[in-house]
Amino acid sequence: MDKPTIDRIALLHPDVRKEVAEIVNECNAALTGRAQMRIAQGYRTFDEQTKLFNQKPKVTNAKAGQSIHNYGLAVDIVLIIDGKTASWDTAKDWDNDKVADWKECVSIFKKYGWDWGGDWKSFKDMPHFEKKGYKWQNLIKLKKDKQGYVIL
Ligand SMILES: [Zn+2]
Repeated sequence: MDKPTIDRIALLHPDVRKEVAEIVNECNAALTGRAQMRIAQGYRTFDEQTKLFNQKPKVTNAKAGQSIHNYGLAVDIVLIIDGKTASWDTAKDWDNDKVADWKECVSIFKKYGWDWGGDWKSFKDMPHFEKKGYKWQNLIKLKKDKQGYVIL
């Protein structure tokens, strides 16, 4: 996996770091062609979330504390083609195995117990994955450790 991915995994919630590294490795092994997965976004502080929320035009409905990213339990992915070009194409089959590379990654995330934003009913967030079973309404009430991660 590439340096940005390694750096972003290191900032995720400690409980999911190893798992996300495994997922990335498994995806990259499955994508035998030109695409490799990069974690484009992971942990986002409450301040960063507020800045994002205030952006015009609107990019998110989530205020500080209302995104699973604010707890380091969500990631956004992008595919890097030929080591240089970012792609959010969810249909392209870069490795010619009859399954879209993006969908191969979706299957692997789901196997590890992660929900995909592409399955959401109202607003589909195709690059987004989050660890199943966590709601911000509950996470926001939890105590944090010295590093600022919620104690699960
Ligand atoms: Zn996201």
